[in-house]
Amino acid sequence: MTLTTPITPEKDLIISIQNVRKTYRLGETEVEALRGVSIDLAKGEFAAVVGPSGSGKSTLLNLIGTIDAPNSGRVLLEGKEVFKLPDDARSRLRNEKIGFIFQSFNLIPVLNVYENIELPLVINSRIPPQDYKKRILAALADVDISEYAYHLPDKLSGGQRQRVAIARALAFDPVLVLADEPTANLDSVTAHKIIDLMLDLNQKRKVTFLFSTHDEKLMNRVKRIIRIQDGMLVS
Ligand code: ADP
Ligand code: MG
Repeated sequence: MTLTTPITPEKDLIISIQNVRKTYRLGETEVEALRGVSIDLAKGEFAAVVGPSGSGKSTLLNLIGTIDAPNSGRVLLEGKEVFKLPDDARSRLRNEKIGFIFQSFNLIPVLNVYENIELPLVINSRIPPQDYKKRILAALADVDISEYAYHLPDKLSGGQRQRVAIARALAFDPVLVLADEPTANLDSVTAHKIIDLMLDLNQKRKVTFLFSTHDEKLMNRVKRIIRIQDGMLVS
């Protein structure tokens, strides 16, 4: 018997995390970063994890991104329990299924915009090389930055860099895009534009988005808000 009934049928679930706990050990002390968190995310959802600094947002996104294993609980990506897979199979799954967007953009400074977006395509074994160009140009157009294709990242503003990072996360058609505080290094006007852009792409490309923020003001267009505090969900 289980007490939590999934609200969506299994087949539409992209992510299901079930009662995950994560403890970090710092010498003698233990930090309980997540204390029994369960979340289901259905295909096509656009959801925000909102909580103050230190509440566990990055820990949560790293578990869902299959980068970091929980101490207990289950993480299922499209029904597959990811931390039961061997490391190489888990990496392959991550490279094919999950796009990442970061607070500090994490573009590679010696590669131009086009080449930055190309990189995850090269890593992704499913995508034939003859499709790279078509995909990159489409992603650049989607984030409205086509004219900067051959610029280096340091010639771009923060908002433009984050657009490139969004294009990079989307160009290989992941099932899920994770964005950990994607607007934290942007001014509030640019931050709103980036959230709006992610929402538009969520609708246009039908890709599932999960992003985190500590900024309540950004939430006016977001339908699903997951609140976290001290490593636990709060309603
Ligand atoms: P947020 O992203 O919401 O700011 P984090 O997930 O980064 O929160 O952190 C949650 C808690 O876990 C905090 O108390 C933080 O100090 C702690 N923590 C995060 N990463 C580590 C780590 N690598 N080692 C030890 N403690 C950590
Ligand atoms: Mg964080």
